[in-house]
Amino acid sequence: MTFDELNLAPAILKAVREQGYETPTPIQAQAIPAVLEGKDLLGGAQTGTGKTAAFTLPMLHKLSSGVSKVNKFGKDGIAALVLTPTRELAAQVEESIRAYGKYLPLTSTVIFGGVGMNPQIDRIKRGVDILVATPGRLLDLQGQGHLDLSTVEMLVLDEADRMLDMGFIHDVKKILALMPKDKQSLLFSATFSDEIRELANGLLRDPMHIQV
Ligand code: AMP
Repeated sequence: MTFDELNLAPAILKAVREQGYETPTPIQAQAIPAVLEGKDLLGGAQTGTGKTAAFTLPMLHKLSSGVSKVNKFGKDGIAALVLTPTRELAAQVEESIRAYGKYLPLTSTVIFGGVGMNPQIDRIKRGVDILVATPGRLLDLQGQGHLDLSTVEMLVLDEADRMLDMGFIHDVKKILALMPKDKQSLLFSATFSDEIRELANGLLRDPMHIQV
């Protein structure tokens, strides 16, 4: 399997080539066609397997060929949300989105706690297509009226087990309630406890299971 066989936009393939990747990793080979088809996904994968590109590449492809909806602020709304347990992972994921999306007219930003809110609020006000966030700060900004998640078409819960281990289950459930039910959802986790399965069952519709 090569990246060229995955039906990704030439602008994405160019950016992938610049990263020096030659062949898709197993999770990429399985996840990318499924996500492009619109399937929900339950992915069992550790860091280091290439899972970030597995969800980012088809996300970029779908968003760059779709029409984004206008949010309550009258701007192009947030089309995709990636939730991560830590600020480090959030920053890393957003960096990957920028790298893979460098030849696409899509915008992204990252928000997390422990730093000032105002630059994040200003950035969101200017409009973003893809938001990467940790749960606590996301809810703070939403609670203050700075965020509208009603236009989200694609959701990724990354490292869901760590998110629950860190006590974010209630925050995650609150965030899920702010988004339309009709969206594509992907959940990645290294381990599968009963709690993760329950979260997955509530969120995912007829998901494809991938274990690497
Ligand atoms: P991740 O599991 O997403 O944290 O990715 C682990 C590392 O693998 C990152 O440094 C990526 O840049 C790299 N990587 C992802 N996909 C590929 C690929 N298809 N070929 C080579 N390296 C890759």
